[in-house]
This record gives sequence, C-alpha cells and structure tokens, in this order.
Amino acid sequence: MTSALGEAARPAEIPATMLAVVFTAQDAFAVQEVPTPRPGPREVLVRVRASMVCASDAKILAGRFPATRFPHVPGHEFAGEVAASSDERFAAGARVGVEVHVGCGTCDRCREGMYTLCLNYGKRETGHAHVGFTIGGGLAEYAAVPIAALHELPEHVTFEQGAWTDNLGVALWALERGRIAAGETVIVIGPGAIGLCATQLARALGAGRVTLVGRGNRLSRVRDMADEVIDAANVGRLRGAADLVVEFAGTAEAARDAIALARRGGRVVLGGATGNGVELSGVDLSTIVRGNLDVLGSLANPKGVSGRALALLAEGKIDVTSLVTHHFPLRSFAEAWRTFTERRDGAIRVMLHPRAES
Ligand SMILES: [Zn+2]
Ligand SMILES: [Zn+2]
Repeated sequence: MTSALGEAARPAEIPATMLAVVFTAQDAFAVQEVPTPRPGPREVLVRVRASMVCASDAKILAGRFPATRFPHVPGHEFAGEVAASSDERFAAGARVGVEVHVGCGTCDRCREGMYTLCLNYGKRETGHAHVGFTIGGGLAEYAAVPIAALHELPEHVTFEQGAWTDNLGVALWALERGRIAAGETVIVIGPGAIGLCATQLARALGAGRVTLVGRGNRLSRVRDMADEVIDAANVGRLRGAADLVVEFAGTAEAARDAIALARRGGRVVLGGATGNGVELSGVDLSTIVRGNLDVLGSLANPKGVSGRALALLAEGKIDVTSLVTHHFPLRSFAEAWRTFTERRDGAIRVMLHPRAES
C-alpha cells in the first residue's frame, strides 16, 4: 500500500526486469532486458499492450532532440492497462491511452491549458514530462506514466485503437485551430498517419467535401478516407478552393501549397514542420494579406483534446485500424523499424506488441 502521493507498490506479478527498446546512443539501438520502471509520485505503471513508432522516434535516435538523454527507452504512441497505481481514478486494471505532453501545471501556459507549450519543458523537477522524449516511453513491456497523460479508453476502443490517443488529438487540435464548420470544403495535405486522422476527423465533424493531397504509394491505400485523393503534383486546379487547409506534410512546398489552396478569407493550419530548419519562401504576401487569410501554426494536443478525439473513435467515426499496416512482436523491433523508416510496402504505421508470444 502507499500514501496518496507516494510511489505505487510493485505487485508481486510485476517482474523486476522487462524487455524494452533502448536507444543506447545516437544512431544505435537494441532490444534488451532493463529494470522495470518504478512509478514516481503522480505516476502509474502501465503494462503496454500496443505501441507504435513514428518519425519523431527517428529524430530522437538521430540525436535531434537535445532534451533526450541516451540511453533512452522511446515510444509515445501507446496504450495498455494500469498494472500498479495509487490513484483512484486510474486503478490497477484500468485501460488507458497516453497523450505525451505533461505540463508543470503552474507556469503561465499551463494555467491556460496550453501545457504543450509549458515554460518548464524538460525540467522534470517541476513536474514537466514529455513521455517517450524526456522520460522513458512505451516501446517496452511497462512504462511509468504521469497520471496527467492518461485517458481512460472508452469501452469499445481496443488497445490497438487506443495507441492513437495522442495522434488523434494532434489532428483534432489542428482542425479546431482552423475553426472547422459543418459543410465546409477542407483540404488536408500529407497522407501520413496524422494527416489521415485529420482527413477522417474532418468528415466526422461534418465537413462538406474533404480532399487529401499527397504523394507516393501510400495514397492508394487510403482512397476511401476522403471524398477525393489527388497527387501533390496536380494541386494547381484546387487553388483558392478550400475554406480550410490543414497541412501535415512538414515541407516548405506543402506549406506554400496550403496557403495557395485556401479561398480568400479562409484558414490555413500548418502542423507538419515540427522540427527546426524548414524555411518558407516563395509566397506572395498579398495572398495572405489581401486574401485576409488566417495562417496558423498548430503544435501537438493541448487542453485535453485527445480525450475528445477518443469519444469520436468510440463512436466508430474514425478508422485507425487500417492505418496500422504492419504488426510485430516487440522483440522484432529492428525489423519493424526498417519497415517503418524505409516505408516498405507502403507502411503508414507499424505496431509493436510487447506481449506477443511469437
Ligand atoms: Zn509520434
Ligand atoms: Zn508549465
């Protein structure tokens, strides 16, 4: 037993060590036995059931996140069941999805609900955590997760669907930034996982016509998720066509297209270029100024938006299952990683299963 804020006890069935993916140093990883994490104050131990990799993990491995210290257990898109807890709301056995930004709770941004912009980023002693980035994550059998990052999974949402908790929130936040309204014409640029979540959410929120813009053989997999799917090379005919354009491609070209495709008075939400170093040029400012455009940046998923996205998932309005193109047991991480980073066979998301027996 524990005190209210104390460490959760480790039930007898939880092993002292666990299998985990470890980024041992820049550009080096291994799947190895490590000590099972002990949840600290205001944390629970989650037994991971489904966990995905994304492009952010590649940036972490490449050493492009200064706040990440090696060796590091990555993983920030996951769901599981609470295995040890001293918190009534998330007791042992609770099924949870994880969002990754945990604010300090006291800085000016956190007080506004914008804990994704916490002024104490990376300062663990303030309570800030970025799950899978500044603290260990869910590419492991267990993860110690701050309670503030947990969402209880609705009854009919599976662990595999719940692993999308963070991604769905990111996509929904971008649409809400753009003040999506029923019946509107929406264009989503970028057919990766987040763009495809945004495409489906736009439909679920009542958009009139949703067009997905992208390149590559991934497009053929996702034709049903939008009213129209077009190659980025052919976007010219959509100039000025959209009430709302949402960009999740991360390139300057995609941002230029996004601004060009909005109608006068429309909204443009840029969500893809989350890393430094992508510069925007080649935009006639009159397109923005005389077009009276709202051009907005959108980062991550503040204000509990992931919880609301789960409600839409529970209603069956979004298909994330078909976005998971490959499944692997956790111990086969190396193969999963190659499949994802090389986009083998049109890979969108690959999912790791810590408890798979094979
Ligand atoms: Zn991610
Ligand atoms: Zn803060």
